[in-house]
Order: sequence, then C-alpha cells, then structure tokens
Amino acid sequence: MTGDKIRTLTATNHVREFAPDHPPAYRISPGERVRVETMCSASGSIRVTATSASNDDLRSKVGWVRGMPMTGPIFVEGAAPGDALAVFIEAIDIADSGWTDVMIGRGAVGDLISAAEVRIFQIVDGEIDFGFGVRLPLTPMIGAIGTSPRDQVRNAGIPDAHGGNLDCTLIKPGSTLYLPVNVAGALLGLGDLHAAMGDGEVGNAGLEVGGSVTLRCTVEKDPGLPLPMVDTGTLVATIASASTLENASRDAVQSMVQWIVGSTDLTINDAAMLVSFVGDLRICQVVNSFMTCRMEMPKDVLTAMGIQLVEFSSASFS
Ligand code: CA
Repeated sequence: MTGDKIRTLTATNHVREFAPDHPPAYRISPGERVRVETMCSASGSIRVTATSASNDDLRSKVGWVRGMPMTGPIFVEGAAPGDALAVFIEAIDIADSGWTDVMIGRGAVGDLISAAEVRIFQIVDGEIDFGFGVRLPLTPMIGAIGTSPRDQVRNAGIPDAHGGNLDCTLIKPGSTLYLPVNVAGALLGLGDLHAAMGDGEVGNAGLEVGGSVTLRCTVEKDPGLPLPMVDTGTLVATIASASTLENASRDAVQSMVQWIVGSTDLTINDAAMLVSFVGDLRICQVVNSFMTCRMEMPKDVLTAMGIQLVEFSSASFS
C-alpha cells in the first residue's frame, strides 16, 4: 500500500443515522480507492487510561445517544435508486487498544451479569492480550455499514434492509458487501469496527476499536441480487434482520432460495434442497434491537449453478 495515492475520508464528518436528507460529506468515484477513518462505537469516549469504574460511569453518562458514529455520508457518483452498491473491503487497520463491555440484561449473558463493566484490551504484536496468559488473534470486521433508506431515517444502531448495524463477521478484509441504493449517490456510512468478534456478539459487544477501512465502491446496474449480501470469495451470504431471530433466520434463508430460483432453472423445491444440503444458516448478532442472521452458500456451488458474481480483488482495480 505504501506510496499508493489514496484519499482519506476523516471521521470528523459523521452521522448517527442513515437518512435520505443528509447532505453528503464526501463524494467518491466508482473504483476510487479511499481510506475511511472511523471512530469506535462509543465515539472515542472510552478512556484508555481510565479505570474500569470511571469508564463505567462515563459510559452511563454518555449513553447510546452519542454512540455509533458513521463516517460519511459518502456520495458515490453514478449510483441511482435500484442499483446495488458493491463495497470491496481491501483492508481494515485498527487502533492498538479497544474496549468491550457487559451490561445487566443485555446480550445472551445479560441475565447472568450483576455488575456492568467496561474493560480495555491492548493489542500487542498483532494479538489481543486477553490476560490470564492468553493471546487471541485479531479478526477485524466492520460492525456497521449501510446506505440511506429511501424515505425514512434509521438510527445507526439498528440493522435492516439498508445494512446498518449488521455485526456480520463476514464483512471483513477481502469481502465485497452489496448494499441497496435507495437514493442518488447511495449515501454510504460506516463505523463500529471490531478487532475481534465471534458470531452472535453474545456478550453485548465485540472488541470495539477506532481505525480505518480501505475500500472501493462500484455500482452494479440491474443487479438482481438479494440485498444485503456479502461475498468473501469462497462464501456468499444473504443477510437479514428482524425483531426476532426466528424471522431473521427465515428471511435470510428465503432470500437465498428465491435468488437462486430467480437466477437459475431451479424450482423452489430444487433450491430448497440445494441450500439444505450445503448451506449454513448462522447468527450474526443477538444484541441489537433487530437480530441479524445470514444464509451462507459455497460460492463454487452457486457458480456451478450458473450464478456469476463480479470477482473483486485489490488487483481488479489496478
Ligand atoms: Ca455493532
């Protein structure tokens, strides 16, 4: 990367909602390589040098109101309603420390928590120093990334059809995320990076960090894609969010099945059997006000069925 010309979009310009009437903070061209700086999901308010108790106090005062800053909105030239925005994630660079928390009643373990806590973790030599003599690998990902809905305002903490707080571990370096374009320019925003997070985000948070994302956007005309969708190069997953896990899982599965039927000669029965044989239904997160699931399919199976996706890589733009 060193020496390559690249424009930096700073986190100074950020929003806390995805909304059609937000004026664009940045304008980028399709294929343009940009580095998007992002603040952590608590807007940088967690103090690395503070004690756990003082950070807990700080967090309780800061609350969620000042959280989830999304760098942007980013206007992508040429993107028009009905298109898909393909966001190729080339790299994620993260700060050298992050934080996580547990809160009473939040997340899958919330009923077991009797004292809320914010804890800082250091990243040492490319690994997370968890304590207890344990180092954990970094698995950087983008927690929240989305485009503007057509005619409504969505808080950046809520995932839905426009993307948003999906907390999907496949939204990581090397992946291409496809999002709907509902308004001119798409009005992309992103933030909420995690240095590590397992599927489910069960404790209430990942290892929340500031950092930057190197990405390129392209515009897909007449996409015919189930959105949001992510392509890791080996897996393709439809993503769905709903007020219950049951509905989110159903929607993710049906999105995949209907896409296959609409893109091939397979019937619903054929596609249901295919997905049942080789697809993996997974939970993205259970901690946001809407739950998120994804239906993963091996990309080579989709390709064998005649579904062709654009192959993005760092080299494909040069
Ligand atoms: Ca999140």
